[in-house]
Amino acid sequence: MARKNNAAVGYIVGTLCVIAAAVSAVMFKNSGGVPFKADKKSVKQADIDKADTYVEFIDVGQGDCTLVCSQGKFMLIDTGERDSDDKVVDLLKEKGVERLEYMMLTHPHSDHMGEAADIAQNFEIGSIIMPIVPEDITPTSQVYEKLLDAVEEYDIPFEAASDSEYTLGECEIATYAPHEDYTGLNNYSMLIKLRHGENSFLITGDCEKEEEKEYLQRRIDISADVLKAAHHGSSTSSTSEWLAEVLPQFTVISCGADNKYGHPDDETYSRICKYSPKVYVTAEDGSVIFYSDGNGLTVKTEKG
Ligand SMILES: [Zn+2]
Repeated sequence: MARKNNAAVGYIVGTLCVIAAAVSAVMFKNSGGVPFKADKKSVKQADIDKADTYVEFIDVGQGDCTLVCSQGKFMLIDTGERDSDDKVVDLLKEKGVERLEYMMLTHPHSDHMGEAADIAQNFEIGSIIMPIVPEDITPTSQVYEKLLDAVEEYDIPFEAASDSEYTLGECEIATYAPHEDYTGLNNYSMLIKLRHGENSFLITGDCEKEEEKEYLQRRIDISADVLKAAHHGSSTSSTSEWLAEVLPQFTVISCGADNKYGHPDDETYSRICKYSPKVYVTAEDGSVIFYSDGNGLTVKTEKG
């Protein structure tokens, strides 16, 4: 169902960050003894309406789709599965999006890039950034072919994902791509670390433990306040070593209700909860939106 024009309308106020009583570098411990980061200060309610930087994990059912807005500039990370009701296209139009500076596609599986061709038809795109994968695992799916056709038809600049840096409004974006060879597409997921002032977000596509291990060995700074859990909370991903390094205050698992894959995996969900004091699941919470003023974060969920 289409949403109303105002980005904030339609959202029920969910969990607001608790203002840490003692704002300090105090580390909180949960029952498992894992250190939690000190809570972020909340963005004041009055500032939410004028917050010009936000990251929205859009509920696209079984798939991933994240919209980033900063100072009126937009970037889309993944598009969700191809669907007939054009949810993402409609949502972007309702938000007044005419141009995406970047469309980053973490990897070429249809639950991440299924709508990419439709989005390319409807919006101006500064560039598409996605991993180049070995020929023997390059998809031959219709949605992938349609995307390549759209890139050609609309003459959209195309970049192979790499260890690189981008800017979107006030946000700094670092991307990483694996250096090792893997046998499956998931482990070619590009990693996206977004920073807005003191706030940071890590978006991981369907990265599995082998790729996680590579990034850990490369000692990339993956620490983040907000983590989009890899591979929809599957048992293939989110190892303890990985989570201990990210140490997210908030985690979002993007998956469909009663999906056929059983995402999120129970054990993985429990493990994520050990390292992240607040975990959202789009199947239950709907879209999850983080407003940032560069210092504090406020979270709203679609379903409350
Ligand atoms: Zn996926």
